[in-house]
Amino acid sequence: MPRRRPGALRAERGTYEDRRPPAWTRPLPPVDRLPPDAAAAAHWGRPGRAAEIAELLSRYRSFLRRPGGTLLLGPSPCPGCPGCAREDIAVVRDELAELQRALPPVARTALGRVLRDLDARFLRRTLPDPAPPADRWADWRGRPRAWWHRRLYEDT
Ligand SMILES: [Zn+2]
Repeated sequence: MPRRRPGALRAERGTYEDRRPPAWTRPLPPVDRLPPDAAAAAHWGRPGRAAEIAELLSRYRSFLRRPGGTLLLGPSPCPGCPGCAREDIAVVRDELAELQRALPPVARTALGRVLRDLDARFLRRTLPDPAPPADRWADWRGRPRAWWHRRLYEDT
């Protein structure tokens, strides 16, 4: 049998993170509305990650559950510190996007489904900002910001 390149072998085996989590992970605590195998995969990769996802999703949900019609985003009182930055729902959505990218495929897809539903509600209940300031187009490093930063904020 010809020797195969290590890269090809690795691709075939998949990384630790890519494989479906084993059955023993299934009884791990649920993560929001992710199906059990996706929740297990979120737990499996890195301790604390699943709880972080659940906490961010619950913030997103409670923003969307606020009474009334149109929702205005609220800026964080102190954007610099990680805890308070999450007062701004656009930052919460950024963190979910970032966590989603690093998830194993089964969890990434499942979280994507949950987020699509929440994003649709977010789009329905918020308004586009007709003239967003420059810092809603790109962050201080010049990296482009996602569309959820260009919804209407309350006047401050
Ligand atoms: Zn703070």
